[in-house]
Amino acid sequence: MSLDPRTVSFAAGERNVFLHILTACNLSCRHCYINPVQHGTTMLSREQLAAWIRLFADRQRTANIIFLGGEPTMHPDLPYGIEIARSCGYTTTVDSNGYLFHDFLERVNPHHLDYLSFSLDGPDPAINDPIRGQGVFAVCTDNLRRAVARGFNTSLIYTVSSSNIDHLQRMVPLLVELGVNRFFIQVIGLRGKSAPAGGTVEQQLQVAPEQWLTVVPAVARQVAEAGIDVVYPKVYLEEGEIFECAGRVAENFFVFPNGRVYQCPLCEDHPLHSYEIRDDQLIRTGGVNEERLFTLGIPEGCVMNKLLQPDTIAYDSAGRPLHRISCCLLKQRISGGGNGAEHQPR
Ligand code: SF4
Ligand code: SF4
Repeated sequence: MSLDPRTVSFAAGERNVFLHILTACNLSCRHCYINPVQHGTTMLSREQLAAWIRLFADRQRTANIIFLGGEPTMHPDLPYGIEIARSCGYTTTVDSNGYLFHDFLERVNPHHLDYLSFSLDGPDPAINDPIRGQGVFAVCTDNLRRAVARGFNTSLIYTVSSSNIDHLQRMVPLLVELGVNRFFIQVIGLRGKSAPAGGTVEQQLQVAPEQWLTVVPAVARQVAEAGIDVVYPKVYLEEGEIFECAGRVAENFFVFPNGRVYQCPLCEDHPLHSYEIRDDQLIRTGGVNEERLFTLGIPEGCVMNKLLQPDTIAYDSAGRPLHRISCCLLKQRISGGGNGAEHQPR
């Protein structure tokens, strides 16, 4: 078994459907990406849920569906949605904050769900709870233990920021103790220079490239050595690596309950979506949308990163970018020997 990270390239012909079935949530995490102005406040009806799952189903290719919110288990029909997804042949994942409403563990057959994913941003309450909320660590880890005991395949998502990167390594024994099958490391944002004094909360939470490169690959290797599959964003392209935009070479659909469908998660805070669902049909949007941006080639790599997070890129004295930023959907994977599917969280 190799512990060298492998870049998970965008699999040609594979489809990933990130289905936000509602935007409501019982938590208010510091880094929440849900934006009610852009994503609405509605919840899919039972009928829409079934129709939209079927809309993206395709038996000619590998298709993964990831149920998201808000908190998806707050939707009373999620178990029904899982059965529809299963009947359509999807590989199915639920990304939960760990509260597991509506007796989720009792109502869903563990063998009918490929992964039940939990989000935790620290190895103990002192680190996790200031980010995700008072008491969240205890509830999330208790429910994760119950899920493992009931036979669910579990994964855990850790969003790295300046407030928890120093504690990432302490996740290794916790993951082992909890019996998690797969570990995803996400990044809240990287900065090319020090976070400005008085900068936005997001800027203050970003981590420096050197810090990311020093900490994350080393911890990922330790997680794999412990027998757990680990996936983390590529973030920086090495010299000679080819830049590819997932919007051009892959099939990713980020679907919101107000009907917006994006191909790039970095575009979600803007009305740049490529498609809309109207009357349960997928319609291409016209005008200026994200697809126009995917075709622009720039030395910095990802166009949307350059447009939306320009302070994440550092330059040398000649004005050349020190690092090219990869597509945010490009991941590194180290196999810990588990059976982790290749599809990714958002
Ligand atoms: S659990 Fe997810 S949706 Fe809910 S507040 Fe936290 S980041 Fe936002
Ligand atoms: S993150 Fe950048 S490279 Fe990836 S799909 Fe969006 S625009 Fe393309």
